[in-house]
Amino acid sequence: MIVEKAYAKINFFLDIESRRQNGYHNIVSLMQTVDWFDEIRLGKNVSREILLSVDSSDIPRGNENIAYRAARKYLDAISENCGVSIEMHKRIPVAAGMAGGSADAAAVLRGMNRLFDHRLSVNELLELASGIGADVPFCLISGTYLVEGIGEKLTACDDTFPKCPILCAKLGEGVSTPEAYQMLDTKYQNFESYEVHKTKLESLFDGMRSQDIIKASSGCYNIFEETVQKLRPQVVNAKRVMMENGALFAMMSGSGPSVFGLYQHVSDAEQAMKMLKEMGALAKVCYPTNKFEII
Ligand code: ATP
Repeated sequence: MIVEKAYAKINFFLDIESRRQNGYHNIVSLMQTVDWFDEIRLGKNVSREILLSVDSSDIPRGNENIAYRAARKYLDAISENCGVSIEMHKRIPVAAGMAGGSADAAAVLRGMNRLFDHRLSVNELLELASGIGADVPFCLISGTYLVEGIGEKLTACDDTFPKCPILCAKLGEGVSTPEAYQMLDTKYQNFESYEVHKTKLESLFDGMRSQDIIKASSGCYNIFEETVQKLRPQVVNAKRVMMENGALFAMMSGSGPSVFGLYQHVSDAEQAMKMLKEMGALAKVCYPTNKFEII
């Protein structure tokens, strides 16, 4: 039995460069994994089936589960006449913009490669990951990366965001990522003459280089935030609770509705977490996680 942690991600920066003919979007994102994780237990299964058990009623069980699809791809890639049992303990908020499903799929790829004696190289795993979902390659590696293209172009960052407690919270109903993209396509006319917020990204990198949290925060940006918070006022509420309780900065992650707040003092983050939980949120004080050593 092998145990893998599937870490959630937040986006310190998320912008869209263009829309491809096929409807996919070329993004520019500074992604960071945080220590809010699902636990994935994996074992070989002689019945040749993929058996998936999940301790949450919020996500699909069979081949609609992205982790199941990852397991199928891995078994096909190594042409193994064997199955796998997957036990998933779901903790990351679902449909929250924290890449919970992608993290699970990536953890299955990492775990199965351990289970089957590292039969695939990191590049082969990354290729499988790209075919599963846009955030899966990043989740496979984890840490701090500039992510571009449709998620397949990963550039490791020498500098990380200045270390601080990060309160992550999901308040209220989830958001469908495809629907959020459709709203932006309408708003920005399919991104035909759209310009990425490059100056902001530069400030973010400057702040990371000098470990200046105020400077780094000033460069944070999420193209989805303005549009999604009109649809989900709880995003504004969650940010307000964070800011009123000592956050230096708060912003929505991914296509939302989860919000992260950056704190100087963990006691402030805990106070905001308590208030958000009283309002019905799922919330956790998190810290960044590092890159995985896959092989
Ligand atoms: P992203 O940030 O990558 O856009 P997200 O955090 O917004 O993703 P997920 O939690 O990955 O969203 O869930 C999106 C949808 O995928 C859910 O509505 C759910 O039905 C489906 N899904 C399939 N497999 C999983 C899984 N293992 N965990 C969570 N959701 C899953």
